[in-house]
Amino acid sequence: EEPPSSYFRVQLVGAPGCGKTSITNQFMSSDYANAYDSMNADDIERTVTIQLDGEEFTLEFIDALPWDDTADSDIDVTADAYVVVYSVIDRVTFDAAVQSLYRLRHGLGSDRPIILVGNKIDLVRKRKVKKGDVNSISRTYDCLQFETSAALNHHVDELLVAILRQIRHKLNPE
Ligand code: GDP
Repeated sequence: EEPPSSYFRVQLVGAPGCGKTSITNQFMSSDYANAYDSMNADDIERTVTIQLDGEEFTLEFIDALPWDDTADSDIDVTADAYVVVYSVIDRVTFDAAVQSLYRLRHGLGSDRPIILVGNKIDLVRKRKVKKGDVNSISRTYDCLQFETSAALNHHVDELLVAILRQIRHKLNPE
């Protein structure tokens, strides 16, 4: 059956270990949302329902497909929005994020909303990714940028709402 238009699918993309599972777990326990895991035959749907501006929306978080840095196979072309995650303490994960942005915007020609998320900002002294690099990449690939700590649940609720606002804005640009 056709899902209603208030139902959006969001894929978290990023190198292993950058925090995708931890961020999704925090979304699922957010005070902003009613969350539920629903079991299908062979996979788990992770879904949150959010009230925004008096309307109700549902976001489904799609698992990253098996990681393969030689192929486009980790990107689900049917997603409504992408959250591209890297770890601020691991430059390799940032380089992987940049590759994903390139594939999304150029390889696949996607104009869907993308939010670039630097996670693990609690590890301040281990930071390896420079803000200037993030700013310039965000401009190049037309994405919103965010910094989170899934460990401390810092800026994770804000990220959840920002994802929904970006999708809404793309559908009804003012
Ligand atoms: P995934 O492979 O991208 O899904 O990454 P995970 O969510 O499994 O996280 C990988 C590891 O990083 C786990 O040990 C997490 O506890 C840890 N981690 C995730 N987010 C943070 C964070 O914001 N800060 C810190 N210090 N550790 C984190």
